[in-house]
Amino acid sequence: MDRRSFLNHLAWASLAPVALSASACNPSRSTPSASSSTAPDTLWVHARPDDLPALQMSSEEWRSVVSAEEYEILFEAGTEPRGSSPLLKEKREGTYVCAACQLPLFSSKTKYESGTGWPSFWAPLDGQIDTKKDMKLGYPRTEYHCKRCGGHQGHVFEDGPEPTGLRYCNNGLALDFVPADQPLPALRS
Ligand SMILES: [Zn+2]
Repeated sequence: MDRRSFLNHLAWASLAPVALSASACNPSRSTPSASSSTAPDTLWVHARPDDLPALQMSSEEWRSVVSAEEYEILFEAGTEPRGSSPLLKEKREGTYVCAACQLPLFSSKTKYESGTGWPSFWAPLDGQIDTKKDMKLGYPRTEYHCKRCGGHQGHVFEDGPEPTGLRYCNNGLALDFVPADQPLPALRS
């Protein structure tokens, strides 16, 4: 196992311990174990870009590069209205990148129709997101955000499909879609 494969393995294995508790939209169930039958590398539609350092930008700088609606989601942890995202109907092969810094976050290979009204995925691309506990609604949820710029994306729940059993419930406004036949945009720096 080379270093990249080893790191991918660690990132994949780290999906399993995501601590999730029961909530109204998150029925209690045992934490599913990630399947080893789906190799993380196979999820990448585009080539993985080189890692760049974390991106630190001021609120004013971010407001100049994303829309007011996107800013509210990405940097004030907002939630877009259910059913409002054009990405719900996106079926093409491609990569979903952070709307703020353009870091690839999800592959079309893990997108599925959850019926919730928000774009949903059963796994992120390995190593591209970080998580934290969110008590905003009075009970614990697991928030996740872009690892590079910290832009809020959504929450992860335990009622997703196999092979992970997880549902990454994402704000469409926090993502840009890049079809497989188009190059990824340059990472914002
Ligand atoms: Zn980002």
